[in-house]
Amino acid sequence: MKIVKDPRKVNSIIKEVKLKGKSIGFVPTMGALHEGHLSLIRQAHKENDFTVVSIFVNPMQFGPKEDLKKYPRLIQNDLMLCKKDNVDLVFLPDSKNLYPPEFGTFVKVKGLSDCLCAKSRPMHFQGVTTVITKLFNIVCPDVAYFGQKDAQQAIIIKRLSEDLNFPVKISMLETVRAKDGLALSSRNAYLSKSQRQDALVLSQALKLAKKMIDRGETVSKKIISSMRRLIQQNKSAKIDYVEIVDFNNLRPVKKISGKCLIVLAVWIGKIRLIDNIIVGTVLKHG
Ligand code: AMP
Repeated sequence: MKIVKDPRKVNSIIKEVKLKGKSIGFVPTMGALHEGHLSLIRQAHKENDFTVVSIFVNPMQFGPKEDLKKYPRLIQNDLMLCKKDNVDLVFLPDSKNLYPPEFGTFVKVKGLSDCLCAKSRPMHFQGVTTVITKLFNIVCPDVAYFGQKDAQQAIIIKRLSEDLNFPVKISMLETVRAKDGLALSSRNAYLSKSQRQDALVLSQALKLAKKMIDRGETVSKKIISSMRRLIQQNKSAKIDYVEIVDFNNLRPVKKISGKCLIVLAVWIGKIRLIDNIIVGTVLKHG
């Protein structure tokens, strides 16, 4: 497994790999790898000849009051996990070589980057799409893998790739959860034992929504109210948003028909957690 810091070196290795006719699968991450990341890595390995993982805690996607400094960094463990899962190249850039002092180009996907999580993290997605544009140009992947856990991010990156004609397929894979339903996230490491228990309200609210839909409920307002009531019963949880939106354009829908996302962000103490499910693809009635 190659570990490379210099973007130009990555680019030249990739060129050689491509000359041999090999396909590149790419998994961009911020490290502190868990089974969610590993599911993407395993799929990339399964579907491609050469697997690249980037590990970079991208300062541009953190707001001034967010957790950039304390974001978990566990690089030795991450490298061990990558090696175990047959990664061919780990790209470990640092801020200085990705953002030199003269850096002045930003990439923003309008509309999709202004709703849901953007309401409380206004510059977040511009930071994500700028770094992903750079990473795609460096790694030149055939397929890039993202988790449904961050569905808004995956949908924005799909739009970005289509709008800018990146020759890459964007693949979104299912959220990996703990046995009790909590979506795996590097930020779960911040949760105390009791907060970890409180954090279950996110997946419980989604389960409740799914149950209502399975029983034939389609009115978003009713589903959202029930979800909010359930979350509010937990005194440690503070709702950022609960919404039901169209899967493709992320606009709120009044009634569930076609592919929709039920998305929520909830504060557990000072930790903001997100989760979602996809509904409406196969609607059951009665
Ligand atoms: P991050 O390191 O948080 O930037 O995440 C890197 C990639 O892993 C993103 O595409 C995330 O959506 C994905 N990811 C994070 N958590 C999970 C999870 N529980 N299941 C599946 N994918 C995930």
